[in-house]
Amino acid sequence: MDLEYTAEYQEYREEVRRFLSGWPLAGAEAGLPKEEAEALFRQRGIKAGFVCRNVPVEYGGAGQLPDALKDAIVRDEFYAAGAPGDLSSQGAGLLVPTLLEFGTEAQKKRFIPKAIADQERWCQGYSEPGSGSDLASLDGDEYVLSGQKIWTSNAREADWMFGLFRTDPAAAKHAGITYLLVDMKTPGIEVRPLKGMTGGMEFNEVFFNDARVPATNVVGRPGEGWGVSRATLVHERNLIANPNMMRDTFNDLLDLARRTLVEGRPSIQDRNVRQRLAEIEGYVRTSETSTMLQFTAAVRGESIKAMRPMMMAKLYSTDTMQMIQRCAYDLLGADGMLAPAPEDVAGWARNTTATGWVEAYIFSLGPAIAGGASNIQLNIIGERGYGLPRDPRPPSE
Ligand SMILES: Cc1cc2nc3c(=O)[nH]c(=O)nc-3n(C[C@H](O)[C@H](O)[C@H](O)COP(=O)(O)OP(=O)(O)OC[C@H]3O[C@@H](n4cnc5c(N)ncnc54)[C@H](O)[C@@H]3O)c2cc1C
Repeated sequence: MDLEYTAEYQEYREEVRRFLSGWPLAGAEAGLPKEEAEALFRQRGIKAGFVCRNVPVEYGGAGQLPDALKDAIVRDEFYAAGAPGDLSSQGAGLLVPTLLEFGTEAQKKRFIPKAIADQERWCQGYSEPGSGSDLASLDGDEYVLSGQKIWTSNAREADWMFGLFRTDPAAAKHAGITYLLVDMKTPGIEVRPLKGMTGGMEFNEVFFNDARVPATNVVGRPGEGWGVSRATLVHERNLIANPNMMRDTFNDLLDLARRTLVEGRPSIQDRNVRQRLAEIEGYVRTSETSTMLQFTAAVRGESIKAMRPMMMAKLYSTDTMQMIQRCAYDLLGADGMLAPAPEDVAGWARNTTATGWVEAYIFSLGPAIAGGASNIQLNIIGERGYGLPRDPRPPSE
């Protein structure tokens, strides 16, 4: 593992920082509404080659050559500056890389530019109340969808859904499933909100009642959607495992430990609290080191050598975030009984108030489930990473 950046990359970092001195916008642009200001700066970032680096120019990106270290430098610097860079939304973060790998030329041209410009919003339709509950049959050159999705984040705001639909009910479990792009305005689609534990309503149920989708909206080949969705899931797991956010949240926890009291003294002076903080910091540092290990391997074209840390990243990150949030929750004492205020219910937001921490603690259970629950991650690490015997599975698998 090499923890030093070469002179070329240090110069690149300086270049990124010079560009970021333009954020926040100044002068006449300072008064622009937040969304407009962010969109404008992201467009500048694309032109300068820092935003959507690896998306080809013809699809609205910066068209730069893949370079894991440059990606990391850009991500770290944009994060530190609080500047709007690559979107981590379902569209830009998940669908775009999937389309780049599996989409037709027409799909790439039609969908990628609007997804990265955030002009069309996407939701992800995988989960169902019972597996195989939806069905899609081919009628001429259209699929006719009926059934239900559940836990669909942001479906009410979404213009489009990418999702998995069973097109061959007779096929084995992972076969006969097709990856489709569905216009949420299609007649026969109904979205109903679900209220989560934090009081937020980011989840939804989506019902399909003979909704018709053109066959040209299949990504990959019909019946091979499971493989396409694996690619999307890898991107989702990478987005969830964010060492910068982990470090920031840990720093917020240290602040909280300075402000709260144990037996009349700042919590951070308490022996037990210090021990707990030291243990958590060990996990945070391990995550950072593991990220460097993965970069080093990627830069050398040897990503395969970092497969195990890659497989562990999501599990490790969600476990550590939970440890941080749980520790904060304990430090809050009686304030931990407060209900999250509406302005706290924003998912990944940073926590500086007591109710913000309560929301973050409750929400921290979610990422450990989304994108493949922790038990599934453990199976993947054990079976694929270490070649352990497979968990017993039902005969159909
Ligand atoms: C914050 C959040 C956002 C989400 N957003 C979306 C979205 O936008 N779109 C979407 O489609 N879905 C979304 N989901 C749903 C999510 O993808 C599923 O909840 C997740 O994949 C788990 O599936 P499940 O709920 O069916 O649980 P199950 O798979 O039934 O698992 C239930 C429990 O059994 C355990 N388990 C299951 N199989 C095994 C096994 N083989 N070995 C050991 N243990 C096992 C699991 O770990 C878990 O504890 C979201 C979930 C959350 C929490």
